[in-house]
Order: sequence, then structure tokens, then C-alpha cells
Amino acid sequence: MPENFDFVEAEIPEPDDDEVLIRNLYFSFDPTQRNMMIDQPGYLPPVELGAPMRAATVGQVVSSRNSEFAEGDLVQATGCWQDFVAISPRSSATGVTKLPPGVSPEMMLSVLGITGLTAYFGMLDIGQVQAGETVLVSGAAGATGSIAGQIAKLKGCRVVGIAGGDRKCAWLLEEAGFDAVIDYKSENVVDQIQVHCPDKWDVFFDNVGGTILQDALEHINLRGRVVLCGAISGYNTDTPSPCPNNLMKLVTNRGRMEGFIILDFLGSAQSAAQEILSWIQAGDIVYKIDLQEGFENIPSTLLRLFSGQNFGKQLLKIADPV
Ligand code: NDP
Repeated sequence: MPENFDFVEAEIPEPDDDEVLIRNLYFSFDPTQRNMMIDQPGYLPPVELGAPMRAATVGQVVSSRNSEFAEGDLVQATGCWQDFVAISPRSSATGVTKLPPGVSPEMMLSVLGITGLTAYFGMLDIGQVQAGETVLVSGAAGATGSIAGQIAKLKGCRVVGIAGGDRKCAWLLEEAGFDAVIDYKSENVVDQIQVHCPDKWDVFFDNVGGTILQDALEHINLRGRVVLCGAISGYNTDTPSPCPNNLMKLVTNRGRMEGFIILDFLGSAQSAAQEILSWIQAGDIVYKIDLQEGFENIPSTLLRLFSGQNFGKQLLKIADPV
């Protein structure tokens, strides 16, 4: 809830030796930020109560005490919800990198950043899609799901998406080139998977978990692979879903289910981003940005991810570059 957040004013920090002072311009909003607010170990440490929330950012260097960065540089970083941050580019935790020429902040924080790369490595390395296979994607109209599905299309698969609402489903069919869609808010998912995957699915790229994962498992093909990318249906609830309760489907179908975290693939990120960029330039991949504005709208923008209000990669702009 927005009232769980405090707005705190502080002095603009001074950069130490080796640090850069960055004015943040854009924040990326990621479902995993909700998990970072829970006081239990995750793949990143939780954010302490009262500390500024961690976020992927694009900003502009205001002053630099690091010889590799100059005033005016546009940079991507792991920063936090602050107007200004002083951080060291040497620390792997901050990951400060310059934006490549011609790459916009919106692209850097979406299709060429974490969500695009997650789609790429999840579909290709974990899912190992092959031409001719049927691929099912949940959270299909989102930043990760929409790119994952389009990558499977590029690899010669038949792609079925599961998303919420007419507008998102229409976009998937008309713009993103999915072969079929299931509106989980108005249709019976388990029945519709059977309709749209009459020969079952070979790869399920799952962003949602819970009942949707259970429904999908009912239609797994022999040697089907489930790419466990995320389980957003459970991030904002106090009671974990008892689903799926049909894991025997994996046993009888000799299936495989594998989770992954994109941070493990960052060593190959540059070449993957280059390939994604070439697909965009060739018109083979489309992407959508949902851009909100204003620092004061940070809490409500985060919540958009959990109500499905976001249509495309959720970003928020707080300032323009100078
Ligand atoms: P999205 O752009 O997909 O936005 C989130 C979407 O999730 C919403 O638009 C909504 O779509 C859907 N959603 C929200 N609540 C529910 C629910 N209860 N049931 C079904 N759908 C719901 O976000 P991202 O692309 O950033 O993230 C998608 C998934 O990928 C998340 O699970 C995230 O944790 C995961 N992820 C995993 C990474 C990894 O390293 N493994 C890295 C990055 C992301 P709709 O309107 O269709 O309901």
C-alpha cells in the first residue's frame, strides 16, 4: 500500500574517491522488489525497513571522481529510489555502466535489460525451444513474457499466451504475433489450453505460478520443459498457493522443471542484448513500455505490477537529462 512508504528529504551526497554522483532519471519496477521487502534471505539481501528501496535505474552523472565516467554520461545502475546517489562503479553491487550509443533509457531498462535478457536466457538456455514445438507463456503481455513468446516465434515455434484482459490479448495477437491467447480473467484456463494446444505443449515459460502452473501441467507433452521464471501470483499474498498439486504429470511425462535467476547469465548479456537489438531492428520483435511520471508516484507505480494495470515494461521517469 502507498501508506507503507515514507518520503524522506536528505542532503545531496558528496561522491567519495572513485565514486560518481548520479541524478536518477528513470526507475525500473520489477515484481521481485516486492520479495525484497520480506525479511528473509533471497537471491539478493532484503531491503531493511526504513532504507531506500533498491531499483534498477538510468541516471546522469552530475559529478565524477572516477576517471572512467564524466559529467553528463548516461548510466544504468542498481541504485535506489532516490533523486541522487553517490556510488562506486567498481562495486559489482551497483553495476554502473554507460548506455551504449543509440540505446534509450527505456530500452536499456526493458528489452535490452533485465526483462529482455530473462526472456532470452529463459527461453533458449532453460527452455531449449526447438522449431516446430508448441510453447505456452504465462504473464504473456508483460515485459518478460512478451519477449519470451516472440523469441520462441523467431525459433519456429507455435506460441500461445496467457494474459489478463481483452486489450492485452489483442496486442499479443495483433502486434506481438502470438498464434493464440487465453484471457485468464474471463476464460477457463485449463480448458482453453486444451483448445489451443491440441497436441499439448513442449515448453511452458511460467511467470505466474499457482493455479495457472497447475492448469498448464495438465497439458504437458512427453519430455515437456517448464521454465520457472517467476510466480507473481504469490508475491503479494500472505498465504502461499497450494498449487500445483499435480506434479505427478512431470513424472508420467518425463518432464523437467527448472528455475533460474538472470544474474547467473550476465556474463553473456552483451552478446544476447546485441542479438535482441538486431531482432528489434529487423522488425521481428516489438516491445511495449508503460511510462509513469513523478517521484511521488513511486509506490502506486509499484502496485500496478500486481493489479495488472501495467501494460508493458513498468518504468517511471522522475527527470529529463540535461
Ligand atoms: P510484467 O511486465 O509481466 O508485469 C507483471 C504482470 O504480472 C502484470 O502485468 C499482470 O499481467 C501479471 N500478474 C500480476 N498479478 C498476477 C496474478 N495474481 N495472476 C496472474 N498474473 C498476474 O513484469 P516482469 O516482466 O517484470 O516480470 C514477470 C515475471 O518474471 C515475474 O514473475 C518476475 O518475478 C519474473 N522475473 C524473473 C526473473 C528471473 O531472473 N528469474 C527476472 C525478471 C523477472 P496480467 O494483466 O496479464 O494479469
